[in-house]
This record gives sequence, structure tokens and C-alpha cells, in this order.
Amino acid sequence: MTITTIIWVSFAIALVAGYVVWQVFQFRKFEGKMLVTCPETGKPAAVRISVGRAVWAALRGRRQVRLSACSRWPERADCDQDCLCEIEANPEAHKAWSIAAKWFAGKNCAYCGKTIEPVKHLDRMPALVNLDKKTFEWNEIPTEELPVAFEACKPVCWSCHIAETFVREHPELVTYRPWKKSGPIGEYVASNNENKNAAPPKAA
Ligand SMILES: [Zn+2]
Repeated sequence: MTITTIIWVSFAIALVAGYVVWQVFQFRKFEGKMLVTCPETGKPAAVRISVGRAVWAALRGRRQVRLSACSRWPERADCDQDCLCEIEANPEAHKAWSIAAKWFAGKNCAYCGKTIEPVKHLDRMPALVNLDKKTFEWNEIPTEELPVAFEACKPVCWSCHIAETFVREHPELVTYRPWKKSGPIGEYVASNNENKNAAPPKAA
């Protein structure tokens, strides 16, 4: 094999690899769990798109964006997948992550009052607290139930969620101190008539 042939073969391989990468990049916008309004029921449904199949079809010159999962399956596995129209029109608006990030943006924690940190992938995810005072990370909720959860629950920051979860699961290990750190040297002091009968806090 001559040098010229090697160069041409290498160039062709690089060209094909570049085209594959470009196609993958084109369909990455469809990755992850998505929330749609089911055209059949008019209710929320969680779906996923088969990105691998879409890329493979594109490499063969065809466009084939289809669902790989839906919360209404297997009962309605034979539906026409009309929800794909709304997803293709604006994939970002249907991503569960985007919807959650938008909902938490600018909200304050129901416990500490601090502004909720921006939703980042796999990192200190914010939570919700329901009427039973139970906190849970937002991505533990089935995607199709997110609209109802966002309507009924309040936002909780990651730190408070961890603390509240520990208190709920290990109440025997928790010492509750209702006092505030308002003493001259920052010590705990009971406010006004609050907890007059409570025992003083132990020294650290
Ligand atoms: Zn908080």
C-alpha cells in the first residue's frame, strides 16, 4: 500500500467518523426522560426516544425518530406516537431536567429560606416536600407525575432534604434544639417564652 493510498484511506475513515459524530450530536437533543401531553388522553406522559435507532437510520439516509419507552406502555404500545410532533418542535422544553430546572429557578427552600441552587446533573439535586412533610429528590418522582408534584409540593434545598431525611429516618439519634444562637458569644438562647421547660443544651 502506497503512502498516497494510506492518506486517502485515513481521510475517508476520518470523514466517516466525523459524519457519525455529527449525526450523534444532532440527535443528542432527544436524550433523557421527556414529559409530553399525550394526544390521546390529554394527560401527562413520560417518554424516551430511541436515540441510537435514530442515529443508525440517519446514517443510512433515513429519518426515524421513534419512542423507545412510554409510561402508557405496554397497554398502548401500538399507539401512533403522535406526541413526537410536540417533542420534535421543541425537544428542550420537554426534557424532565429542563422542566425541573425551570420550576426550581428562583424559588426558596421551604425550610431554610435560601434560594435553591440551579439544578445540575447528578449533583446536590433539590427536593420537594409534600403535605406529609416527607422530602424526596425531584427525580425520584415518575416523570409523568411531575406536574402534579410541582403543583402540590414545596421546594426544598439539598442540604435541608438531607437533614430532614436523617431526622425522619433516625429520630433516636437527633437532639432537637429549638433555641437560637443569639447569645453574646453565639451560644444557644431560648427566645422569650419559648421552651421554658426544656432542658438546656449540652455543651459540645
Ligand atoms: Zn434549605
